Amino acid sequence: MLLVVMQAEATPADLARVCDLARERGLTPQVMAGRAQTAVAIDGVEGRAVGAALQGLSGVAEVLQVDPPYRKAARAAHPSPTIVTIAPGVAFGGEQVPVIAGPCSVESESQIIRAAEQVKAAGAVALRGGAFKPRSSPYAFQGLGAEGLTLLARAREATGLAIVTEAMDDEGARQVAEVADCIQVGARNMQNYALLKTVGRLGRPVLLKRGAAATIADLLLSAEYILNEGNPSVILCERGLRSFDATVRNLFDLTAIPVVHQVSHLPIIADPSHGTGRRDLVMPMARAALAAGADGLILEVHPEPERAMSDGAQSQTPAQFTETMRQLAGIATVLGRRLA
Ligand code: PEP
Ligand code: MN
Repeated sequence: MLLVVMQAEATPADLARVCDLARERGLTPQVMAGRAQTAVAIDGVEGRAVGAALQGLSGVAEVLQVDPPYRKAARAAHPSPTIVTIAPGVAFGGEQVPVIAGPCSVESESQIIRAAEQVKAAGAVALRGGAFKPRSSPYAFQGLGAEGLTLLARAREATGLAIVTEAMDDEGARQVAEVADCIQVGARNMQNYALLKTVGRLGRPVLLKRGAAATIADLLLSAEYILNEGNPSVILCERGLRSFDATVRNLFDLTAIPVVHQVSHLPIIADPSHGTGRRDLVMPMARAALAAGADGLILEVHPEPERAMSDGAQSQTPAQFTETMRQLAGIATVLGRRLA
């Protein structure tokens, strides 16, 4: 629904032009005459396109979009929460809260197998680890690529953990889809619409991370691209926003969690590792994210964080992760949920 508010001094010809433009597009304008001003309500899915055309026309004061721009991701499209299952027993959006954990990057066979065993022992149900890494610097470690995927598959064989790993481009996405239980689209690629369409067609669940400067509506519009390709399995992820305060790597926007639950049926998880950038802040913010209603968590854990090839400063030690899981289990109980 579009609401076109006319200026007080708009002429009958101005009003007629607005109504004609709507009718030309097959829409039915409804004129609401107020004492000082008139408004025109235009219903129908094409409202958004006509809205842009009406903005700035003579006599038009304001054009308001009343309903959200995303459709399939909106609560109204699916009143009950969507539950996304990435592997047997690993479901996001229901009573259970799965925890995904592991290193930022896959570095070697021994590193990823050790990490997998350690996070599994502490209660994680899925293993994270990037084979294709989007690094700010082209000189930084870029990941092991296809070899990293092979190592992730070995870690799954060894532990039974589900695999979550990032794809950065179309070709990589096809490779990732052959191995991963869930394809991660990272913050930097949240608005890579070609990649979103590709992962929408690959038939695997997608973990879509919020861009560092993306609004909640931007995030849901990106999810809409994946849903539109016929893939209903989208898990959203809050991972922090760029801010002016250098104390932390990102400003972890926990408000996004209850807001997304109000406006969308999709599950949303939280990443306090990238959200804070500091291992000493991960545990308190993991607790806060769960308390805010997160449908899962993704945490960076490294067998030896001081030797990590990426994101060591924000990676928990296995002992810290074990304690985090213990505390999260208590919070889940209070909320009437339980860790998966
Ligand atoms: C990651 O998960 O390691 C990562 C690169 O995350 P983000 O896209 O949120 O920066
Ligand atoms: Mn990382």
